[in-house]
Amino acid sequence: MNKNAVISISNLKMKYSEEYVLKGIDLQISPGQIISYIGPNGAGKTTTIKVLLGMIDDFEGKVEIFGQEITGGDIEYKKKIGYVPEGGQLYETLTGQEYIEFIGKIYGLEDNVVSSRGQKMVELFGFDKALNDRISSYSKGMKQKLLIVTALIHNPEIIILDEPLNGLDANSVLVFKEVLSKLAKAGKTIFYSSHLMDVVEKISNRIVLIFEGKIIADGTFEELQKLSEKGSLEGIFNELTGFHEHEQIAEKIIAALEN
Ligand code: ATP
Repeated sequence: MNKNAVISISNLKMKYSEEYVLKGIDLQISPGQIISYIGPNGAGKTTTIKVLLGMIDDFEGKVEIFGQEITGGDIEYKKKIGYVPEGGQLYETLTGQEYIEFIGKIYGLEDNVVSSRGQKMVELFGFDKALNDRISSYSKGMKQKLLIVTALIHNPEIIILDEPLNGLDANSVLVFKEVLSKLAKAGKTIFYSSHLMDVVEKISNRIVLIFEGKIIADGTFEELQKLSEKGSLEGIFNELTGFHEHEQIAEKIIAALEN
């Protein structure tokens, strides 16, 4: 194991039924990295994230976070992780303010700290006027911003993001990308799972491509470019996962409409 790794995954395997969906993942992640974890649908990205978050414990292999095995029963490490789930559920009968206070209490933060950090972030994300409205009245983008605010409120060391840009407008995307870059520069570790290849290409300093439960590429964008003749990350992704049939499949979908 790399001594400096904030996340260390060794030979991680996981099966829900007979077949393994993670087939021996090895990853050493240092602080200050924005690591993008990409792969086709069903490759095993969310399963890996669930293992890191302690939501799955019947895996094989060794996972250490902050130098400590996560299966040891000590869940303190979770206090230093922020998580934006894909399509995350919120308690919609609460107001934004109540939800922020609720999450702050879960993390054991002082009320005044939650209030001050929450108020500032909500203002900067531009939905402070809705803070005392019920979440059920929020737009998709406002709900996503609330998920981001509450994932950051405890100033975590590791930030795990699953499609965090869902529903954000172009201006908010710019702000959020800048926030990620600054957090990484401050030594935070960002674990970023997304299908948006253009964003991944731009923000990551390391890209890990997982396919059918195994890592098939791991490096900077420039390093990945050397593995493929395709220039864009989308092209590299298609080539390394052996996918070349998009035109034929599209034609067949259109043809299916004509019968
Ligand atoms: P996507 O890009 O579609 O979100 P993913 O890479 O996050 O995919 P996972 O959700 O980790 O993929 O799923 C990996 C495999 O495990 C898939 O074949 C999926 O059907 C299977 N799987 C995931 N969750 C369960 C579960 N709770 N029970 C059984 N099989 C599951």
